[in-house]
Amino acid sequence: MSIFPRPIIVISKCLGFAPCRYDVGMIQFPLVESMKPYVDFIDICPECEIGLGVPREPIRIVFKDKKRLIQPATGLDFTDKMVAFGKSYLEKLEDFDGFILKSKSPSCGIGTTKVFQDSFSKEYLHHHENGFFVDAVLRSFPDLPVIDEKHVDDPLLRDYFLTRVFALSSFREASFCGKMQTLNSLVEYHTKNKFLFMAYDKQLMTCMGNIVANRGNFPVENAYENYLSLLLQVLSKQAGTGSTINALMHAFGYLSRNLSASEKFNFMQKLQKYREDGSVIFELRKWFISKAEEFSADYLLKQTLFCPYPPELSGSLRIV
Ligand code: SF4
Repeated sequence: MSIFPRPIIVISKCLGFAPCRYDVGMIQFPLVESMKPYVDFIDICPECEIGLGVPREPIRIVFKDKKRLIQPATGLDFTDKMVAFGKSYLEKLEDFDGFILKSKSPSCGIGTTKVFQDSFSKEYLHHHENGFFVDAVLRSFPDLPVIDEKHVDDPLLRDYFLTRVFALSSFREASFCGKMQTLNSLVEYHTKNKFLFMAYDKQLMTCMGNIVANRGNFPVENAYENYLSLLLQVLSKQAGTGSTINALMHAFGYLSRNLSASEKFNFMQKLQKYREDGSVIFELRKWFISKAEEFSADYLLKQTLFCPYPPELSGSLRIV
């Protein structure tokens, strides 16, 4: 089985790191605790960073002539301060793999924040806005995984998020790792992710394979740069059911001659169930791992499609 690198995730500080909300609150977030053995976190509270203390009067997004960050109790406008902070903080950030941010916040919310037409109205215009820090994140890193604490509680969305985060972190490790970039590390990386990328986009996976083959004998740095751009593309949309089944069938080809008729039937039934319910993917992964172990199919055992991140992170983890 593969050894996982440690991804680095930027996270809203109030998600289990410090009581930094306006009312000195903190969200109990068991997922963070379960992730700590496998992930490094960089926690950040944008509102504290721009000098708003704890406790503080709440701020809100107001849309009049443009989107503004207003503190109704004082009438102060923090828009420029927050925009400047987001830009300078993110410019300095290096070597990380994704974000987990607090929903509904005027700073950290991802498409879940309320917008008001003025400082005092109780009725909001809509509740699908991004917080100001998130605007900066999406501007600076449009290709990186970004999720909030509500969506990461959904097993399939968490699966997609973690798959991307671990794939990116593993690529960082292959590309740097304190040593010279070599084509061999890229070949190794592509080989173990081949079925995973096939499940996301077979055409892009083939293009990535062509880069790795480097028939034009281009400098290694160019190969890494071109490969990364396709890697970000291939992971930018969740894997479809049809393309995942296609990848699973390819993998099945490595096992089928060892399987009895009833084992083959059993697999086809699971595949049928998966068409109707995406969460059957977890069962299918386990099935592949157990069969690959039984028949010593080492090539399959190395494939991240069956174990894209530490399995301990895929269980049901409720937010309190
Ligand atoms: S949501 Fe963001 S800005 Fe608000 S307390 Fe949490 S970390 Fe700070």
